[in-house]
Amino acid sequence: VPCNGFGYDVHKYGQGRQMKLGGVPINGAPEVIAHSDGDVLLHALTDALLGCLGQGDIGELFPDTDAAFDNIDSGILLSEVMDRIAEAEIQITHVDLTIIAQIPRLSPWKEAIKKNIASLMHLPLSSVGVKATTEEGLGFTGEKKGIKAVALVSAHKPCI
Ligand code: MG
Repeated sequence: VPCNGFGYDVHKYGQGRQMKLGGVPINGAPEVIAHSDGDVLLHALTDALLGCLGQGDIGELFPDTDAAFDNIDSGILLSEVMDRIAEAEIQITHVDLTIIAQIPRLSPWKEAIKKNIASLMHLPLSSVGVKATTEEGLGFTGEKKGIKAVALVSAHKPCI
């Protein structure tokens, strides 16, 4: 049967980790505060996958109080959840992603992010949407205080 999962994540700018989006290091971008590597896009995507699974959220699986996840590559968190997707025999058909930030300018990075997400998800490029937008100077992204990302995953899961 068809199923969809939705994910949302925010990270605050400040002295912390080099910004990574979809596993791609974004040179010259503000640093983000995080326990893991702070990849807001992979976190939103991972939560969307957990939504398809009906298995809670990323904070529940990988608590930020656990030293094991200190500065962990969010690609590892994603691949652990992808293992659960495979176990549940869920077939991912499409992912659609939007990054919302005033800074940095993301258009030069979108293609590299898309390619890396397609490779992490074992999907063709035509099944991965990567978009970037600003909030026109409004709110915390507009004030350059942080970044957010949303993810929608489309899939088929077995009937039970
Ligand atoms: Mg996060």
